[in-house]
Amino acid sequence: MTDRKPDLQGRLALVTGASRGIGYFLAKELAAAGAHVIAVARTVGGLEELDDEIKAMGGEATLVPLDLADMAGIDRIGGAIHERWGKLDILVANAGILGVIAPLGHVEAKVFEKVMTLNVTATWRLIRSVDPLLRASDAGRAIIMSSGAAHSARAFWGPYAASKAAVEAMARSWADETRNMALRVNTVNPGATRTAMRAQAMPGEDPDTLPHPSEVAAKILPLASPELTETGLIFDVRQNRFTRYQMPA
Ligand code: NDP
Repeated sequence: MTDRKPDLQGRLALVTGASRGIGYFLAKELAAAGAHVIAVARTVGGLEELDDEIKAMGGEATLVPLDLADMAGIDRIGGAIHERWGKLDILVANAGILGVIAPLGHVEAKVFEKVMTLNVTATWRLIRSVDPLLRASDAGRAIIMSSGAAHSARAFWGPYAASKAAVEAMARSWADETRNMALRVNTVNPGATRTAMRAQAMPGEDPDTLPHPSEVAAKILPLASPELTETGLIFDVRQNRFTRYQMPA
């Protein structure tokens, strides 16, 4: 993979969690590279701000205010893209929640279930909704946001770590299913990033010590390139390279 900015003129990208944080800036990067961005999140204000910025650059976006806990709503996104465009070139499954930082025995059932619903079930539902559309593209690219927590599995991060490990397993299965097609599927570990989620996890941390989400987004952008060859790997933003999965040893 090269660091060169890809040319995404005429490409269609769906980005979840586009109202703030990493998803917002990745949506902007995709639009700046020429893609039409379909931006999904609940907060209309954040989506409208993104739309204004994209329009100011001469780009185009379609806003989809949606709570991703609404599984039928996710199905409708796939249907609407099929009707209007007949294909999807880029999926960025980025929306996610932390839940709570607490010992597993102290986690409330409704919080655990919400983390699984948003981070795992909604991601699967989205994959199912757009898989045929990505296969219809000549260079479908799926970018699935994970976390180092999936592997470090540190104390008190249990629900979130479990959800990201599940997301990675799903993405790897999907990559393996599609290995002989044009579709490329990779996960991303963005590393600690200056966003609302990180501040929730680490309230005592000075946010200025962390990379801004715009820097992180710029590093992820090449994964959307039609020239990308890698699939089934984790892209580590801090190292700016793909890393491979290994069996536990
Ligand atoms: P933020 O909390 O800043 O943004 C999360 C985004 O997800 C928002 O746009 C939010 O939109 C959206 N979202 C949350 N819940 C829902 C929902 N129910 N329906 C629709 N959209 C929803 O998070 P980050 O930018 O930090 O995180 C982005 C991704 O990166 C996540 O998957 C996270 O796990 C991962 N990550 C982040 C790290 C970090 O240090 N920041 C480190 C490792 C991984 P809205 O509230 O408007 O719905």
